[in-house]
Amino acid sequence: MLVVEDEEDILEVLQYNLQQEGYEVACCMDGLQGLEQAKKLKPDLVLLDIMLPGMDGVEICRNLKEDDSTRRIPIIMVTAKGEEIDVVLGLGVGADDYIPKPFKVRELVARVKALLRRSNLEQENPSDNRISVGDLVIDPARHEVICSGKPVEFTATEFRLLHYLASHPGRVYSRSQLLDPVVGDDALVSNRNIDVHIRSLRKKLCSCSELIETIRGVGYRFKETR
Ligand code: CA
Repeated sequence: MLVVEDEEDILEVLQYNLQQEGYEVACCMDGLQGLEQAKKLKPDLVLLDIMLPGMDGVEICRNLKEDDSTRRIPIIMVTAKGEEIDVVLGLGVGADDYIPKPFKVRELVARVKALLRRSNLEQENPSDNRISVGDLVIDPARHEVICSGKPVEFTATEFRLLHYLASHPGRVYSRSQLLDPVVGDDALVSNRNIDVHIRSLRKKLCSCSELIETIRGVGYRFKETR
């Protein structure tokens, strides 16, 4: 995996702990180099700090997600404050997960593992049940979503969330019920991440966004159209 982080202490801690877990870790302290390395190495996962010299993490993420050859690489953004998550989301950069600083190393490692497990599962068994509701078509085999005739790009996590909800129309899920199938069985991941991904999903779905309904005080459901 690739870690892009300009604070030396944090970089060392991350490198050490991830290596202890058996991962091969490449490190970059500069944003531009980070982007170059990600394109060259095609790592299994990128851990991306936001404030970086050269190029910030938001730009790097956007770059990688816009490029067909790097789009599938899972990205965890490391944000300086929890509130930055909203800023990053507002920019629609398409990261797969977010973790605020300061973080506990154990929590970060757990997130890394969960994200890797999910991306491996997807590559091994892409389910092939196509879902078609109104103007929306979800095709897991091709990892493709068509909304009103136009293809929409989703991150792996957003895609999983949409597919999961759409596979069970009419059923209401609490945030914690969505964590397991969508974000992974990692109890440390907060419910708030689900809201972050739902907001991003709705934004991208445009005219089809009303298919995802908020059930106040409970959670979310995919509209039952039959
Ligand atoms: Ca930084």
